[in-house]
Amino acid sequence: MAAFSSVPPAQGAPLPERASEYLALSFGDAARTAAAAWLGQGTPAARRRHITAAEADAGALAALASHLAGAAVGLRVLLAGTQSQVYRAAAAAKEAGLIEEELSLAVIEEAVIGDSAKHVYCPHCGTTTPSREPIGATPLCGGCRRRLEIYPHFSRRTASYLGFMADAEKPLPPSSSPESASPEPEAVR
Ligand SMILES: [Zn+2]
Repeated sequence: MAAFSSVPPAQGAPLPERASEYLALSFGDAARTAAAAWLGQGTPAARRRHITAAEADAGALAALASHLAGAAVGLRVLLAGTQSQVYRAAAAAKEAGLIEEELSLAVIEEAVIGDSAKHVYCPHCGTTTPSREPIGATPLCGGCRRRLEIYPHFSRRTASYLGFMADAEKPLPPSSSPESASPEPEAVR
C-alpha cells in the first residue's frame, strides 16, 4: 500500500523544504491550530495559504480542487483533520493531480476533535451513514435500515468504513456442520 507522508499534529512537524508555496487545509479548531503551526515555521520566502473549513464537505473539497488547479509546480500541501476528513481531502487532492510526495497529512485524534463521526458504507444500498460508535458496533444503515456491523476496514478512496449486515449469516468456521449451509425448516416438537 502506498503510504502518504504523515506528520504528527503537534507543533514542530517539519515543513518540507524547497517548496514554491505551502497550502494547508484544516477541518475544525484543533486541526486549524496544527496547520497554523506547520505553516508558521521556516523561512518566509514561499507563499503560505491556509484554507479552513468545518467539515470535509463538497464546498471545502471544491475550494481545494480549484486552488490545486491553479497551483504552480512545487506546491506542498498539508491536510489536517480527523482520519476520514483527511483521507477524503487526500482523495480529492489526488484526483486534482497532486502526487503523494506533495502531500502531508496531520490526522488529529477524534477524541481531540470530539464531534466527529465515522462514515459507514452500506454495501447493500450504497448509503454512507455517519456513526460515532466504535468498530464492531452495529448501527442502523441510514438508507435501508439494515443493521450494519462496522468492519475494521477503512477505505481511503471513499474515506469510509465498510459495513456488513450484522444479522445476516455469519461466516461459518470450517468445522461447522454442513446443514447450516442449506437451512431447512426445523420442526419443533
Ligand atoms: Zn443500506
